[in-house]
Amino acid sequence: MIVAIDGPAGAGKGTLARRLAEHLGFAYLDTGKLYRAVAAKMLAQGWEASDSKAAQAVALGLTPDDLERGDLREEATSQAASLVASYGPVRAALLSFQRGFAANPPGGAQGAILDGRDIGTVICPDADAKLFVTASLDERARRRHKELLDRGEGAIYPRVREEMAERDKRDSERADAPLKPADDAFVLDTTDLDIEAAYAAALSYLRSRLEPRGPADNT
Ligand code: C5P
Repeated sequence: MIVAIDGPAGAGKGTLARRLAEHLGFAYLDTGKLYRAVAAKMLAQGWEASDSKAAQAVALGLTPDDLERGDLREEATSQAASLVASYGPVRAALLSFQRGFAANPPGGAQGAILDGRDIGTVICPDADAKLFVTASLDERARRRHKELLDRGEGAIYPRVREEMAERDKRDSERADAPLKPADDAFVLDTTDLDIEAAYAAALSYLRSRLEPRGPADNT
């Protein structure tokens, strides 16, 4: 069973994906981490994120340890990640790992949940269930701003909103695997939903896709 969860930054897809994976006993892959790891490694080595050749080389040499770096969630990493993610060769370098994870989830799990931007459209177009989790820009920026303040990091709301809008634009307008819902995705707008309501809606959709139909369903 493969579950694809896509959507823009701050829509809550990571939280939902983690909870759903735990509930269903599925393996979980946060694919944004792959692009973040490429970006973080480049910045740490003094390369510009605009160096697409270096980005490709780093993507090809990525190791599991790179996904555990402490600087993956930094704002500089987020912006650089969305830049390196626009390079076709970087995406190509990360493709087979993602497909392999989906086809053979680690730990003998019966299924996999992958979250990102292009899981339902490019990485796993034949996924059993596809969710596109979204929310208004204002609400997503508000959530991210609160998260940063809760972590004790100084953050100015207009700046958080501006950086998020910039990343949305780059992710949606790139030529290669742009952010957009797959034609057969269930679009879940969480603007007016709290996490419990969003989780209930996502779980109910997944159940409708993943549970085998019993005889009662055929009547
Ligand atoms: O999801 P997250 O915010 O961690 O992703 C960081 C960046 O990685 C995104 O802004 C996007 O540019 C890129 N990304 C992508 N495709 C994915 C996952 C993430 O292009 N499947």
